[in-house]
Order: sequence, then C-alpha cells, then structure tokens
Amino acid sequence: LPAVAREALSILEGTDGEGWCVGGFVRDALLGREIHDVDVATNLPWTVVRSAFQEAGWKTVETGAAHGTITVIRDGEPLEITTYRCDGTYSDGRHPDLVTPAATIEEDLLRRDFTVNALAYHPERGLIDPFGGIADLEAGIIRCVGDPLTRFSEDALRILRACRFASQLGFSLDGATFDAMMASKHLLRKVSGERVYRELERFICGDYVRDALMTCVDVLAFVLPELVAMKDCPQVTKYHIYDVLEHTAWAVQHTPPTPITRWAALFHDMGKPAAAFFEVRDGEEVEHFYGHPWISEQLACGIMHRLPFPAWLRRDVPVLVRVHDDVIPANGRAVRRALGRLGGRPEMFEALCDLKRADALAQAPFCAPRAELAEELRRLMREVLAADEAFSVKQLALDGRDIMALGVPAGPEVGRILDACLDGVIDGEVPNEPEALRAFARSLA
Ligand code: ATP
Ligand code: MG
Repeated sequence: LPAVAREALSILEGTDGEGWCVGGFVRDALLGREIHDVDVATNLPWTVVRSAFQEAGWKTVETGAAHGTITVIRDGEPLEITTYRCDGTYSDGRHPDLVTPAATIEEDLLRRDFTVNALAYHPERGLIDPFGGIADLEAGIIRCVGDPLTRFSEDALRILRACRFASQLGFSLDGATFDAMMASKHLLRKVSGERVYRELERFICGDYVRDALMTCVDVLAFVLPELVAMKDCPQVTKYHIYDVLEHTAWAVQHTPPTPITRWAALFHDMGKPAAAFFEVRDGEEVEHFYGHPWISEQLACGIMHRLPFPAWLRRDVPVLVRVHDDVIPANGRAVRRALGRLGGRPEMFEALCDLKRADALAQAPFCAPRAELAEELRRLMREVLAADEAFSVKQLALDGRDIMALGVPAGPEVGRILDACLDGVIDGEVPNEPEALRAFARSLA
C-alpha cells in the first residue's frame, strides 16, 4: 500500500471515521498491475474529510463535491476520497437523480459497476469481496454487480467501460453482461461525447485490444458505425489472410499503445469497404481497393469531428491514414522527401513507421519483411537527423524573400521554386548555400 494511502486511512480513522481502499487500485494490486492512483472510500461527509486533511497540512481540491468526492494532496501526490454513497434511481441514464450517503462500505460497493471493481481493502481489516470479485479476477471475467440490464440502464457509459476493461485487462465478458451490453447499446446516445471518447481512448490503447475489438465490435458499432462495413468486407488479395476488421484489429495490436498510432491503425483501412471491387485476371478473381487511403482519411475525419478528439489528433491522424500506403524507398533521399511532406516532423515519421510495421505484421506471412523495411526507414530517418541534412524548405539557406528578390511575384510560384530548390539539395544537384541556391533558383524562375 503506498504511503500516502496508509497515512490518509490513519487521518480518517483519527477523525473517528472509517476508510477503505477501493476501485481500480485494489483490482490492479491483486492482478500485479502497475498502480496509477488510489481511491479511498469513507463514511465521513466530505466537509469533515476536508477539514481533517487541511488540519493535517494536506492540500485539498473539491473535485466532485456534489457526489461527495474530494482530492487530497500530500507532496504532490493526489488521492481521491469519496463518501460512501448509494446512487438512487437514474431517470436519464447518465446521472443519479439523487446521491444519498450510504452507511456502510458494503452498501457503497453495491453501486459499483463490475465485481472486480467492487472490492475494498484495508491493511488491517483485509479484503471485502461481497460479489465474488476475486473469483472473477482469477477467472478473468468482467461481470456486472447486480442485474446487468438495470445497471446499464442506470448509466450507459458502463457498456463502454466493460469494453475498456476487456481491452486493458484481457478479460472476457460474462455472458449475461455481454447480452445486456448488446441489448442496451442504444442508450449510449444519451452519454456525452467527452465520456464516450475517454473510454474509447482507453479501449484503443489497451494491451489486449485485438481480442477486445473482435469481441466488442457490435457494441462499439453504436458509436463507431463505420466498423460494420469492415466486418463484412473480405480481402481476396494475396496480401491478406484476414477480412478488413480482423486485419485492422491485428494492426492496432501491433502498434505502440499511444493514441496517435492506435487511432491511425484503427482508421487506416476503414475506406476499403467503399473502395472494394472485384476483377477477373488470368481466370482468377481478385479484389482491388484503389484509392482507399483517401476514403479512409475522409471517414477518420468524420469520426474525429463527431466525437471530441483532441485537436492534435484531428490534425495528425488523418495525415498518417492518408500516407500509410505510400511507398518510401529505403534510401536517405526518399526518407528526406517523406519527412518534408510530413511537415518536417520526426515524430510523425516515427508514427508512420510504427503504422507501416504494424500493417505489414497484420498481413499475410510473406509480407512480414516489410515490417523490417519500416524499421530500416526509421533508422535512416535518425541518420538524416543526426547528420543534420536538410529535409524541409525551412532549412534551406534561402527563403521566399530571396526568391521574390529574383523578380518572382508573391504567390504559389514562390513555394514551387522553394520546393524545387529543396529537391535539388536532396538530390545533391546543388549545395545548401545561399549563392549556389540563388543561381539554381534563377535558372528555375
Ligand atoms: P482506472 O482508474 O484504472 O481507469 P478504475 O476502476 O479505478 O480504473 P475509475 O473511473 O477511476 O476506474 O473509477 C473508480 C471506481 O469507481 C471503479 O473501480 C468503480 O468501482 C467505480 N465506478 C467508476 N465509474 C463508475 C460507473 N460509471 N458506474 C459504477 N461504478 C463506477
Ligand atoms: Mg481509478
């Protein structure tokens, strides 16, 4: 138990209260997973909690006073303390109509979503496990506390939380819980975009996302309907052994667990169902997907504007989707060009390599060497950076003003000449020096 949590419990007890560690902390500690925060539940009202911790010299932040949650901070280490509560009835599927304090920890655990999240732990009093959460942890099962249909109708976000825990923990969904998720998914329309996005991001970054995506696709389709066409799209090409959905699920799994690479992988082939056409060639039927990255990009943009994706992802993910299939030969010149087209941003080039590698690994076994090609491109890019070689017009020894000084009027022609100068430098036709570049530009103007 982290020292902050131990001290917090003794402060609560010194105020004649009771405290228990709850939630993800207990679950993750029992699973031996990394602990990122500790939640504490107490019978004391939050106002009492606040004064007790202020007296003990901690900082306090009223993060959720309306539902009895307060954050207490010691030496920059935060801890959430929530007063025991039961959530009453829910008429909107989002917020309890009334948050009423509960008398005991057992009552508080009853309102929690899944059995594995309804465990309480105290260093002296041990574990409380009223719903078989430990058995479910051991068996790897996500199961609702109580009747799943009721629990999802109270708060539909729990449907996505179940998918998210499946992806993070690699657990399977209890049958009755899954059936209720399917029967209740339409209630997700009541949930705010922000809450949906938060859970989807955790879902997509999970360690077991391939399995979870295959299991939960019909549930997720309520918020990402683009998945439906992927599921029904075979890929009759020599490069593929999976349909579009399963290929995508593997590609996502093979990228590093960061939002940019994971989302780009989820979207990278989304346009294939719309691009697909069959052709008989040498008596054999083959499928083509010409232009699919462009459609995939359109669909990605649509999704990212429908849901509140952060602005930087809205900017960067569609670019990766659009260029993911572009061929970059494994030489310094091609890498410098590609880097320039990505705005001269090495982190974008790295993400593209991640995506290319994952895409190759998710295809037919004979495509696997292309994963090594992606690593080779990454290595070449690092060489380019280390050697300080120019890859964007910003690094040229002349700029737009120099071009205009040659008599070229302000306008797109200036940019075209700068691009041609960069090509000249990359191809070794002209050194990156002001005089030589001016002469080169004059010959183009
Ligand atoms: P993590 O912090 O690793 O994302 P967590 O299980 O701690 O996972 P939180 O969102 O921090 O998730 O919530 C803490 C606890 O509060 C949960 O373990 C669960 O017991 C309860 N809880 C959270 N959200 C809900 C909900 N929508 N319905 C019911 N109980 C919930
Ligand atoms: Mg938590």
